[in-house]
Amino acid sequence: MSRVYNFSAGPSTLPESVLQKAGAEIMDYHGSGQSVMEMSHRSKWFDDIIKEAEKLMRELYKVPDNYKVLFLQGGASAQFSAIPLNFMNGSGKADYIITGQWAKKAFQEAQKYGDVVAAASSADKTFTYIPKTKPEDFRDDADYVYICMNNTIYGTVYKELPPVGDKVLIADVSSCALSEPLDISKFGVVYFGAQKNVAPAGLVVVIVREDLLGNARDICPVMMNYKIQADADSLYNTPPCWTIYICKLVLDWIKEEFGSLEAMKAHNEKKAAILYNFLDNSKMFHGTVVPEDRSLMNVPFVTDSEELNAKFIKEATEAGFVNLKGHRTVGGMRASIYNAMPIEGVEKLVEFMAEFEKENM
Ligand code: PMP
Repeated sequence: MSRVYNFSAGPSTLPESVLQKAGAEIMDYHGSGQSVMEMSHRSKWFDDIIKEAEKLMRELYKVPDNYKVLFLQGGASAQFSAIPLNFMNGSGKADYIITGQWAKKAFQEAQKYGDVVAAASSADKTFTYIPKTKPEDFRDDADYVYICMNNTIYGTVYKELPPVGDKVLIADVSSCALSEPLDISKFGVVYFGAQKNVAPAGLVVVIVREDLLGNARDICPVMMNYKIQADADSLYNTPPCWTIYICKLVLDWIKEEFGSLEAMKAHNEKKAAILYNFLDNSKMFHGTVVPEDRSLMNVPFVTDSEELNAKFIKEATEAGFVNLKGHRTVGGMRASIYNAMPIEGVEKLVEFMAEFEKENM
């Protein structure tokens, strides 16, 4: 068996021990004589899985008791609609910070439902930084302020939250989920598509403050109504059982391997530093993001030539470093180094880059 180092932005590499465990349990989950893919979502076995997944999520993220943890479908993109439908319910206004494609898509979707403005944007410099904001950048009566915490395509991350005062802050944390601690109490809602750091595709986790629930618009589809989903303990309809099971195994892995999200963060910092240090000292490869806003998860980089970029991607792929091509809107390269990418994967990538630089300078 030979596994590649997979730098995909999502779906992404999963911990090998999780894959092995899922493989070992695939024919007969805990004496049930079935796999989790086949069993009823109302079974005792699945009930234990989803409850344990929620317990671990609460423990790792230190989720306060007045927040619900929901396991839903539709990916992060469905939440672009669900958020205005559930929360743009006072003034009908919402303020978005545009830090990349995903924030922009959420913003454009929300515009269908109300008075939605861009409070700040980093489009002027191709989203290579996080715009600084002041309290007065946000409208006093905005129902919420929306951010995309880690920008998967551009490789930026918020190190400090925008000063929104007591306004409800909503964050898409899809590409940095469970990679570092978050003070959940600072947010009204955080949500993440699972297919980067948490599980295969098919699951989105929404952590929402309870007092914000119950005011969805009448036109809100039942599947997007967070109150209905919360009241049904995420079992309003058939949930993505297999994906929730893998999510539970990944949470077990974080807990056993690292113990806490503080330790997970330290590990991710050490790993990312290997790549950023190399980029900072290379004569051929350059990072594209301002140093203070660099993501620990997604690292875009370029050479000065399209031809060299293409040659690098081809040769890296042949050497077993796959999915390094940058997003189609940016070009160049991007290494996504989520929780499950081992340090060794980044060390070997950097060795390969150094060798490539030597041979092609
Ligand atoms: N938000 C972010 C930050 C993302 O990176 C992505 C997907 N790459 C999305 C939203 C959209 O996710 P989905 O495909 O689950 O709708």
